[in-house]
Amino acid sequence: QLYNQVQDLKGTIRVYCRVRPFLPGQSNGQSTVDYIGENGNIMIVNPLKRGKEARKVFSFNKVFGTSVTQGTFSSFDMEISYSIRNMIAEQIYDDTRPLIRSVLDGYNVCIFAYGQTGSGKTYTMSGPDLTAEDTWGVNYRALRDLFQISKTRADVIHYEVGVQMIEIYNEQVRDLLVSDEIHPASPLSIPVFPLTIYTLDIRNNSQLNGLNVPDASWVPVSSTQDVLDLMRIGQRNRAVGATALNERSSRSHCVLTVHVYGKELVSGSILKGCLHLVDLAGSERVDKSEAVGERLKEAQHINRSLSALGDVISALAQKSPHVPYRNSKLTQVLQDSLGGHAKTLMFVHINPELNSIGETISTLKFAERVA
Ligand code: ADP
Ligand code: MG
Repeated sequence: QLYNQVQDLKGTIRVYCRVRPFLPGQSNGQSTVDYIGENGNIMIVNPLKRGKEARKVFSFNKVFGTSVTQGTFSSFDMEISYSIRNMIAEQIYDDTRPLIRSVLDGYNVCIFAYGQTGSGKTYTMSGPDLTAEDTWGVNYRALRDLFQISKTRADVIHYEVGVQMIEIYNEQVRDLLVSDEIHPASPLSIPVFPLTIYTLDIRNNSQLNGLNVPDASWVPVSSTQDVLDLMRIGQRNRAVGATALNERSSRSHCVLTVHVYGKELVSGSILKGCLHLVDLAGSERVDKSEAVGERLKEAQHINRSLSALGDVISALAQKSPHVPYRNSKLTQVLQDSLGGHAKTLMFVHINPELNSIGETISTLKFAERVA
């Protein structure tokens, strides 16, 4: 059955929609989500519009409502048996797991988080709290699975896993896995460079198979702890340059790439798979009359690269002979992992607050275009 699921995902693009719950203090707000159907439909209500315009239905492979968690439990939930808690905790991840497995079979996979700033992208990909394992997002669960599955295959295949983490900001690629200190508790060898911003080249070379930014640090990892250490460094580097007014992480794309090399012990044949986990820049449109200077430039770069991504995915979905990879750094970096035999999953996030209605509609329109 699992195999069927994987086959089903092959060469396809899946789109899942996730609705962020109201946060504490917003609980009295009116939700723009009218209902969520079982078959991937979601109805959005816009109280500012009348008649037919007021309600719109969008369809995706799946819609996750606000009760779907990745493991933050109330005291009531703590009384539920561990196995059921685990089931709830992994709801989001359950549908992602077959994709992760296929990376170990030699496929290239891209998982994206799309949505306006504050809609829950980082929550889905990383989770709110690294120290609480049951709140972990897709990134950590995926890597934990990769290690676990590769152990079960150790008699047959020897796997090596390495990680790169880059940021794309204003169409410049920056290595996030550089450190100005060596983590004392970590066995990882992270290059020690001053944290200056420098641009890395992208080379699309089939020989490199997914290693399209060959100059970005490539760090071998063999445990979830290694990955946690790395992410901490990456996230800290991502924050460099951010000021209170200009939160960098919402204006840049963060790409965590996991390269997997497997050597079959009997035949000696090599398989390569790679997994890109992408926390995209906030998709909100910036009011041109308000944004000036640096802020306007950022906004234009983000708009352009998100539409380039949309163009690539929809060209692939329509099996168009021309796929416009070269229009942005993001699509160039991911070129080998979009299309062909690669598999793509996009989580689109919406914020149910009334004042986000405009962004919610445009997010869902974007998502329907690529679905
Ligand atoms: P983004 O990365 O899209 O800007 P975040 O992931 O940072 O958004 O989420 C914004 C806020 O909402 C954070 O405080 C986060 O913890 C909270 N949040 C997001 N999604 C959920 C969710 N599914 N359940 C509970 N809280 C969430
Ligand atoms: Mg974020």
